[in-house]
Amino acid sequence: MASDGYAYRRAQMVEALERYGIRDQRVLDAMRLIPRDFFVPEAYRHAAYSEDVSINIGEGQTISQPRVVAAMTEAAGIGPEDRVLEIGTGSGYQAAVLARLARFVFSIERIAPLAREAKGRLDALGIENVSIKVMDGTLGWRALAPYDAILVTAAAPDVPEPLIEQLVDGGRLVLPVGARETQVIRVVERRGERYETTDLQGACFVPLIGRHGWRGKVE
Ligand code: SAM
Repeated sequence: MASDGYAYRRAQMVEALERYGIRDQRVLDAMRLIPRDFFVPEAYRHAAYSEDVSINIGEGQTISQPRVVAAMTEAAGIGPEDRVLEIGTGSGYQAAVLARLARFVFSIERIAPLAREAKGRLDALGIENVSIKVMDGTLGWRALAPYDAILVTAAAPDVPEPLIEQLVDGGRLVLPVGARETQVIRVVERRGERYETTDLQGACFVPLIGRHGWRGKVE
């Protein structure tokens, strides 16, 4: 997939992720393959493989640091037959990584131009198992639920109830929860009618804006 001048930088990024503590080989392999440089604006390509750098992608939004992408993807424990929902398509990079691991990825973005550009990148890379929709992702994508895993890549004030409801039994929701500026990455695992919660690490995401998120305009 990535026959470019960045393969060495990508391999170095993956080594850094291993030193950081990422152990899941499937996640590391996916990130070794997906060309992150293709998902960032040209002016920032030099920084695309720094494992701890988030990058502006326009519309006031960012592509998350590779170590955050890796940690959240690992925590989601995705299997090859899984159907995964992502909230916050952004550049499309996280969706591309998920697409290597899962059967199907459904990704929701509230800003139409970002969704359009992300779709163009995934198409250009020949990634066919991702569907993108423009709407308020805090409501989930009920028509296609339930999901084996749900990743939210924007910061929520609380765990959005509709997302919990759209998990299969045994499914995992991974999301940053907390204040508008700093959060903790939380894993919520559904066990029948009970939910087990584990907090992973600190994070600093842009806000999740919507009915079950922070207030703001949803397109
Ligand atoms: N996963 C993305 C990537 O790989 O580039 C990065 C996501 S960026 C940190 C957060 C994204 O969440 C932004 O594109 C923002 O517009 C989107 N967002 C915020 N609130 C949303 C909502 N209610 N529904 C869908 N997307 C939302």
